Amino acid sequence: MIVSIIGIGLIGGSMGIALKESGFANHIIGVDRDPDNLDKALRRRLIDEAAPLEVAISRSEVVVLAVPVNAIEDLLPRVLDLIGSQVVLDVGSTKRNILQRIRLHPQRRQYVATHPMAGTEFSGPEAALPGLFSGKCCVFCDVEASSPDAVAVVKWLYEALGMQIVYLGGGEHDVHTAYVSHISHISSFALALTVLKKEEDEKRIFELASGGFGSTVRLAKSSPQMWIPIFEQNRDNVLDVLDEHINTLAQFRSLLIKKDFKTFHQLIEQSNQIKKILP
Ligand code: NAP
Repeated sequence: MIVSIIGIGLIGGSMGIALKESGFANHIIGVDRDPDNLDKALRRRLIDEAAPLEVAISRSEVVVLAVPVNAIEDLLPRVLDLIGSQVVLDVGSTKRNILQRIRLHPQRRQYVATHPMAGTEFSGPEAALPGLFSGKCCVFCDVEASSPDAVAVVKWLYEALGMQIVYLGGGEHDVHTAYVSHISHISSFALALTVLKKEEDEKRIFELASGGFGSTVRLAKSSPQMWIPIFEQNRDNVLDVLDEHINTLAQFRSLLIKKDFKTFHQLIEQSNQIKKILP
């Protein structure tokens, strides 16, 4: 199987390694707008060769779009214009706008919308990791609009990476990811900003930083190039979740002002229920 990966960063690069290691692909062609990224990807053996988009597509059986979600929205119709029998998938963190964009494309059935729920706060080909996807889940969206053959190939691809597949509608996916992923990033960006603003002596932050602070602000290291397009595309859902989160923070504030530590205690106990879902 020859696979082209467009966007050879954290996700595209990690996929390149894993698809070769698993035996799903015997040749990976990388496409990226940045020649430095392609050089790094070749040196790290994330890809076997670099090629322009048209060449890569014409020589592949499977095409993976692993660029930021705004770039997927622009590139996907172009990629579908160029394919014949190739199967196309994207790995974008939002789905509704992307699905809407190619809804009526004549090659729509060759495309499968996916979101592998795996990642780190780092980006670029240097951040690619072997085993990134193993044991995690991958969301397939609106599969009824894809051909069963295309879905079978993409299912085989993700199973080769060791992922479990979950099926959702595109709109439903965007609501769920606003809760489980997008809000945690906003909250981490906000906490990092709050602490950086308050604590002028940065050295002291690092001296005092324990595991708790480090793990809560870990996501604040994530790149704006990837996250701004996600917030743009999932703005309405993120706003809903953010309003709820702000209300909860305001409730904590009010309990502290009123010195109502009994209710605060109860709320922490309620929040501890998360252990049942995430042991
Ligand atoms: P990344 O590390 O920044 O990699 C993206 C790569 O695509 C970079 O090499 C970037 O080049 C390149 N690129 C950007 N626009 C392009 C274009 N128009 N044409 C060709 N190449 C282009 O980002 P990532 O974390 O791998 O994310 C890629 C996709 O995976 C996104 O859609 C994201 O939503 C999704 N995703 C991310 C995670 C995560 O945790 N990071 C998890 C699941 C899914 P430059 O360096 O020049 O920008």
